[in-house]
Amino acid sequence: MKNGVSSRAEMRARIASFGRDPIALDNRQDPVIGCSNSGAAVLLAEGLWRPVPVSWSPNIVSRSLISPELSIVQISPQTDRLLLVARPKSAVWLCPCCGCQTDRVHSHYLRRLADLPWQGRVVEIQLYARRFRCANSQCRCQIFIERLPATVRPKARRTTHLGGSQQAIVFAVGGQPGSRLSRKLAMPVSGDTLLRMVHSAPLPDLIAPTVVGIDDWACHRGQRYGTIICDLERNCVLDLLPDRNADSVARWLKRWPGIKVVARDRAGLYADVARCGAPNPVQVHGGPLAPTQQFR
Ligand SMILES: [Zn+2]
Repeated sequence: MKNGVSSRAEMRARIASFGRDPIALDNRQDPVIGCSNSGAAVLLAEGLWRPVPVSWSPNIVSRSLISPELSIVQISPQTDRLLLVARPKSAVWLCPCCGCQTDRVHSHYLRRLADLPWQGRVVEIQLYARRFRCANSQCRCQIFIERLPATVRPKARRTTHLGGSQQAIVFAVGGQPGSRLSRKLAMPVSGDTLLRMVHSAPLPDLIAPTVVGIDDWACHRGQRYGTIICDLERNCVLDLLPDRNADSVARWLKRWPGIKVVARDRAGLYADVARCGAPNPVQVHGGPLAPTQQFR
């Protein structure tokens, strides 16, 4: 049985325990159930939290307001934002160089991290991070900064959760539209920063293409053109080359010797691909590439 009970009768008994009116424990009558929403939630500092009741089933969702690596010291709701003062939970840390455990704090420093919004408000975490002294006198890292991999990347100014949301936005709608949307969602970020997120995002693993299409595309119409290469079987863009000459395309094709068919337009711009030392796939002349309408 799901829902943490062993039988249907037990589940009905539990439902009955929450209601004011008795219900039959057999299947003759379906109970009326509902849920409650907290309309005016009150945020408590972590020292005032109550532990999760032991009788709660593990499928009841309960989670910390922020990363499990951090403790909230103070919560300051403000007009337009929510300020969380936090500190790392762990009392000891492992040296990244020698792996030696240490609890010798060298110093503290303040990090300001943007986090996911709460109730339409910008959330800022003021994190009192620490520098540690390595306990191994022979170690070359005498002083090191603690890392919080589940919370934030080194030197980043936004939590990994916020960065993931903003990255999803920029991939969906682009830089400047993504900036406007993020501001509406209380996750303000500039368009340039969103574009840097795109450039730093890991590339997905490419499946070796066998049928590709080549065409030119305008970075600035009438001024600057590049080359777009698409996988015509999977209907996706494989690469953008900064220019539109046959040498660049030939170099690209050499990286994928399994390509069997190259579709290109009749203009002859890429007609020299085969003469530039590239493999000799079947060349198909055709119109515009099918996936180009998906490329923005
Ligand atoms: Zn060390």
